[in-house]
Amino acid sequence: MNLQTSMQYMKGVGEKRALTLRRLGVATIGDLLAHVPRAYEDWQTVVPLAQAPLGEVICVSGVVSFAPAEHRLRPGMTLYRTQISDDTGTLDITIFNSSYQAEKLREGTAYLFYGKIGKNAYTHQREMSSPQFAAPDQARLHPVYPLTEGISSRQLETLVERAFALVRLQEFLPNAILEQYALLPREEALRAIHRPKDWAQAQAARRRLAFNELLTLQLGLRLLRQGHEGQRATPLQNSAAQDFLQSLPFAPTTAQARAVREAAVDMAKERPMQRLLQGDVGSGKTAVAAALLAQAAAGGAQAALLAPTELLARQHHQTLQKLGSLQPALLLGSTPAAQKKKTKAGLAEGTVPLVVGTHALLQGDVVFANLALVIVDEQHRFGVEQRKQLTTQNAHKTPHTLVMSATPIPRSLALMIYGELDISVLDELPPGRVPIKTYQVPCALRPRAYAYVRKHLDQGLRGYIVCPRVEEDEQSAQAAAKEFYAQLAQGAFKGYALGLLHGKMKPRQKEEVMNDFAAGKLQLLVATTVVEVGVDVPDAVIMIVENAERFGLSQLHQLRGRVGRGGGKSTCILISDAENPEAQHRFAVLKETNDGFAIARRDLELRGPGEFFGARQHGLPPLRIADIATDTQLLAESKAAAEAIGAKDPTLQSPAHEGLKRACEKLFSTSYSGSF
Ligand code: ADP
Ligand code: MG
Repeated sequence: MNLQTSMQYMKGVGEKRALTLRRLGVATIGDLLAHVPRAYEDWQTVVPLAQAPLGEVICVSGVVSFAPAEHRLRPGMTLYRTQISDDTGTLDITIFNSSYQAEKLREGTAYLFYGKIGKNAYTHQREMSSPQFAAPDQARLHPVYPLTEGISSRQLETLVERAFALVRLQEFLPNAILEQYALLPREEALRAIHRPKDWAQAQAARRRLAFNELLTLQLGLRLLRQGHEGQRATPLQNSAAQDFLQSLPFAPTTAQARAVREAAVDMAKERPMQRLLQGDVGSGKTAVAAALLAQAAAGGAQAALLAPTELLARQHHQTLQKLGSLQPALLLGSTPAAQKKKTKAGLAEGTVPLVVGTHALLQGDVVFANLALVIVDEQHRFGVEQRKQLTTQNAHKTPHTLVMSATPIPRSLALMIYGELDISVLDELPPGRVPIKTYQVPCALRPRAYAYVRKHLDQGLRGYIVCPRVEEDEQSAQAAAKEFYAQLAQGAFKGYALGLLHGKMKPRQKEEVMNDFAAGKLQLLVATTVVEVGVDVPDAVIMIVENAERFGLSQLHQLRGRVGRGGGKSTCILISDAENPEAQHRFAVLKETNDGFAIARRDLELRGPGEFFGARQHGLPPLRIADIATDTQLLAESKAAAEAIGAKDPTLQSPAHEGLKRACEKLFSTSYSGSF
């Protein structure tokens, strides 16, 4: 047995359990060991009964005074009561409905009990209701695992223990590094994170494993970047970007002009540009991109604009045609095969200078004759590997790269992701933008909100209604959106031209709906969050967000950014009955400010770094243990270690670094499940 062995071959894991584990992302023994606890229950600090504090979750120890007595309150509701005692006093224990649990408690026997101390409504005595309990030898830290239905933390604990008996883990860090940074050996750390002796050991284990992640992340990024060093780009020394800016139907903002100037200077050099363009929704990033594309085309080179969705790619394609005399090709997954073939041939021959596309551009068979510039819109939707793809599949020269983002990335993080990255910021909105008025309205006033929308539609304006968000599953989200749409079409918005937009629609259908909406054939768009990314219709001035409490702060801001893109007054109505303080706080922030950077900062504060930087936010591989935002010390240490290793063995060729290299590769593979 080894780390790759499927869980099904483990004792005690049948087909059904294997399926349950799969839902947790645990397919192999390695996955199981990488499935680390998210917290611990402290069954080690035993509180004397006399001091058990009300309202707190604690561990107590006591001898059961009598076999639990059954009290039938009503059908389906049976209580089992007993009492425990220690040297200091007694405590009532209540178990609901589980005769199985109750019968496990033996009179005169001592147990540990873990639960919350409450006060019984009738006896006014302190009690512990439905506690977990175990034999006294279980006084330790109990791991709490991320779970799914059908499996408990205790069951996972047993499996983990069995797994450790079956496999050995090799150390992959050089001894010198273990010593220098006082790190636990790999296997010891992994054992300890699942079953720590005490808090100090849990902490030390976490530190070692987080170090692993950060080190492999940085070494992996180094490996990815290596291609760039000493690489040459095509210098584009012309003033086409400036000319393009001047020819726009509107005057560029100072920030746009500055961003174009900064990038144009980079692009005139032989060193490949590596630039991030940050700008709030509506700050006009597309025009900046267009100007740079013009510079590439004027230099006789090729350029590509990469968008995360077909909708957005098509929109960019149209915008570029409208803004200037650019005639880019369009390459999407849904492009008919014959057309695709023609475009690819044109790219390979160099007869097609500009192309706008989606992931379809990242396919290995897309080859450019002379690709000099790559612009990535909404960069966080792409992984590091993907961004690298376009630059490496065109071997001889490295293209200049501009990545665009509406979510500000802290500089330390940006540096890590992009290496020697330069940043331009659009800190200014085009003139005449009136801040979007944002209101929160309870569900009871929904009819009035709808009437307000109708009033706007009657004036020839357009609006969005964002559907209530349904949990993750796309299928039910689609069903819910359809139903909601039908309800509106037959009810509050009968007689109006309504459109529906959801993620499961075919790209063609989406485009049709968006075009009709942009052209004014549709007045009101009922949409899921697919409208979140970059869709631009200046005449849309009102948005309603149903169940607004279900959305995060940055997401609400992005959604809201779909209106207020023309010069007129715009409104965003958040419908919600939520009274919880977090939701209220989010609404308050949105009402108070339209500044996306300020909102991102607040979001970071509210959600904490773990979630904010979570998984796919920045196209980095997801980290399981380390936290880029808060593990600053560890980040610095792992960075120094990565540099030391990289200086001696830049491509990790040495046999001593084999394990590390494999961990790096694994981290950047799509099926990442921990690199311990
Ligand atoms: P984002 O930064 O969110 O991608 P867009 O590039 O979609 O923003 O631009 C938003 C809208 O602002 C578009 O309708 C665009 O034509 C318009 N716009 C961009 N720059 C200017 C400007 N300098 N003056 C007026 N309107 C502008
Ligand atoms: Mg955009």
